Amino acid sequence: MRTSIQVGTLIGIPIRLHFTFLFILVGIIGGFATLPATEYRVPLGLGGIPMSPFVRYSLATAAAVLFFFTLLLHEMSHSYVAMKFGTKIHSITLFFFGGLAMMEDLPKSPREEWRIAIAGPLMSFALGGLFLLTSWLLKLATLIFGVPASVLRPVTILVFSLGFLNVGLGVFNLVPAFPLDGGRVFRAFLATRMPFLKATKRAVLVGKIFAVVMAVGGFLADPITFFLRGEVVSGNFWFPLLAVFLFIAATEEENATATFAALEGVKVRDVMRTERTSVPEGATVAEVAKKMLEERTVEFAVVSEGGELRGFVTWEDIKKVRPEQHLTALDVVARAERGGGAAFESVEEFVFAEEAAAVALKKMMKSRRKVLAVRDAVSGEFVGIITRRDLSDYIEMLR
Ligand SMILES: [Zn+2]
Repeated sequence: MRTSIQVGTLIGIPIRLHFTFLFILVGIIGGFATLPATEYRVPLGLGGIPMSPFVRYSLATAAAVLFFFTLLLHEMSHSYVAMKFGTKIHSITLFFFGGLAMMEDLPKSPREEWRIAIAGPLMSFALGGLFLLTSWLLKLATLIFGVPASVLRPVTILVFSLGFLNVGLGVFNLVPAFPLDGGRVFRAFLATRMPFLKATKRAVLVGKIFAVVMAVGGFLADPITFFLRGEVVSGNFWFPLLAVFLFIAATEEENATATFAALEGVKVRDVMRTERTSVPEGATVAEVAKKMLEERTVEFAVVSEGGELRGFVTWEDIKKVRPEQHLTALDVVARAERGGGAAFESVEEFVFAEEAAAVALKKMMKSRRKVLAVRDAVSGEFVGIITRRDLSDYIEMLR
């Protein structure tokens, strides 16, 4: 399922918006338009300031768009430093709780990791400082030049809010709870004195404890109201929800790190399958299904009579075909190709038998494929297939 759309590219990095980001955007516009300007220790929105709804929501929308760019700049600065270290950035996705820069490699050294991690919060602090400074200058201008307060005050408030949000974002991200930026700095610190996997497990454990504390604490009392008004009021579901998200993200990253650590030194050749690999392109869907059942496998390469690779068929694709359609394996490949089906494997997507198994896994994760062709590095010939299931079984057995 496609849950995000690409909205553009910046210095060669695809920028994507996750559908959940739309909720937060609407929420932020609403917040800027209605949160009180005077009730709290700091002004947060335009609530209570007399103005027409049109002006109110236009200003709020402009501020929300600016906030979007500050989030983007936070992620861009992670990406920029990563690229300096030679790590490719797959994409930047903005979603519900912020952004995520997807890197194609695990950090190569602790020094690299902490620098990449710290760049984001530093950018948030710099932007926050800039906004705060601007809001004070605007205030000053109002006083010096006698501009009527009604003209500049709404803008001053929104600029201040943006500054406040960015500083808050920077502070929150520095909490040493994995997978927050501070947690990555923490892991890098640990990794200088123990193996990377062990450092990850420790950092993840601290991250999970933090998430549990945040969930329970946030449910019992609202930390934001406490900060803004010094009052203890009962909490809501926002912090618990964020905590659940952090907990899941921490677990996922721990698993991914464990997987890649387990695959260290393992070659594609060790995991690949050389039997039960292919069906002829002319085989009917019924024949393919029968062969899958007999050989207890859910994916096959489709090869021509000359042994050339045409693509792949998976059980998922076969299921979508009705028997009266009389399709062949090659038809299924073509259909999947046209419809962007899960099974279609561009013939270009392959790995060499002598490559690291981790390379195959990365390629599969990046392209969301379940199977890759394996070629011989010298002859270029199709020698087998490697599937996600083979990889996970292999890792399971190693453990
Ligand atoms: Zn960050």
